[in-house]
Amino acid sequence: MSEKNYRFETLQLRGGYDPEKHNYASAVPIYQTASFNIGSIERLRRIRGYEEKGFLYTRSGNPTIDVLEKRIAALEGGTAAIAVASGMAAVAYSILNVAEGGGEIVAPASLYAGSFNLLKHTLPAFNIKVNWVEDPNDPESYRKAITPNTKAIFAETIGNPLINILDIEEVAKVAHENEIPLIVDNTFPTPHLLRPFDFGADIVVYSSTKSIGGHGTTLGGLIVENGKFNWNNGKFPHFTRLDYKAQNKNLYELFPTAVFATRVRIHYLSNFGAVLSPFDAFLILQGIETLSVRLDREVKNTEEIAKYLSKHTAVSWVSYPTIEDNVNSGLAKKYLPNGAGSILSFGFNGNQEEIDTFLDSLEVFSFLVNVGDSKSLATQPAETTHGSLSDEDREKAGAFCNAIRLSIGIENIQDLIDDLEQAFIKAKK
Ligand code: PLP
Repeated sequence: MSEKNYRFETLQLRGGYDPEKHNYASAVPIYQTASFNIGSIERLRRIRGYEEKGFLYTRSGNPTIDVLEKRIAALEGGTAAIAVASGMAAVAYSILNVAEGGGEIVAPASLYAGSFNLLKHTLPAFNIKVNWVEDPNDPESYRKAITPNTKAIFAETIGNPLINILDIEEVAKVAHENEIPLIVDNTFPTPHLLRPFDFGADIVVYSSTKSIGGHGTTLGGLIVENGKFNWNNGKFPHFTRLDYKAQNKNLYELFPTAVFATRVRIHYLSNFGAVLSPFDAFLILQGIETLSVRLDREVKNTEEIAKYLSKHTAVSWVSYPTIEDNVNSGLAKKYLPNGAGSILSFGFNGNQEEIDTFLDSLEVFSFLVNVGDSKSLATQPAETTHGSLSDEDREKAGAFCNAIRLSIGIENIQDLIDDLEQAFIKAKK
């Protein structure tokens, strides 16, 4: 299949899959096997020398996972991708891959708590330091945080749970002026609503546990590269080191447009081992088939809910980029013309006891810590996802004490509004 000619809605069903190579199976087969027969010593040598593409052991590659990797690369407009066991594995491996050996990362504090904790507490123990950006809405703030030892800027295209938008183009310029890549977590919009490569990002990571999988069934993570960044610019000597014997060439020489993903596979997936299972890759592929259809409906529902909440007396503020007066509405027009995603947060105008009653009273919305499900979800980040952060860090992340985060699904919109309304009435009784 010549994928260049197909558009997103077709690629989400067919990208990366050639039925002819899989007994003409209509659905992508699940290769539920740990290992693959080598065939012959001759073949082994060709595979190990990167002269022939082949699978040896599922920790470093599997045909079902391969289709998922090719499909996300096609949807994103990238040159290569790698699938891993969770979004956190995707974030951690991407950052380790650039900053290993004592590098520094520049990032805003308004991040998903797992990524924040990784940068603040875990990576410093591996000699990787983070320089926090003072104002995530100001590209100059990113520039100020860069030092000669900075190896990448890392940020979320839509912040969790602040729902702020990254000025990708401006921040990418800052990164490139300093010869470092911009790595973005694009979990909330997905490539259907935003393709960060179009605006200069170099690496995109996903928690495919969220809208990409879309049904709350499967943990997974994806890393995609755009194939344009010059890893041979002197700042990343580990990309051109001859670590593994292969035709006496380094990875950059072997895979100039897929060196980031290949290096993650060899150094991190194979050696740290957070591998996605073939069955989970299949489930994520099933989710991707309906990505645009689900998200378009979720965006419609979310816009209605944002309007309803903005007029509610029990609500002190709503953070959703396309509502009136939102600080990011200009950026939303530029980066998210087809909708700002399915997640919003709002301030509950009341005390914790009322918030507790509100969450306990929801009947259609599920009270849980996930987002991007086709079912609607609610949580209070300060008590759940961001509960481990200090008060100061929680404020910076936008997980304010009274903030409720809603992830809107594809249910009937009136049922969703009725559910919120009856919960507000109970909470305020
Ligand atoms: N990135 C974002 C924006 C997230 O919201 C999450 C999880 O909530 C993650 C990464 C981590 O993903 P996972 O739970 O799949 O490890």
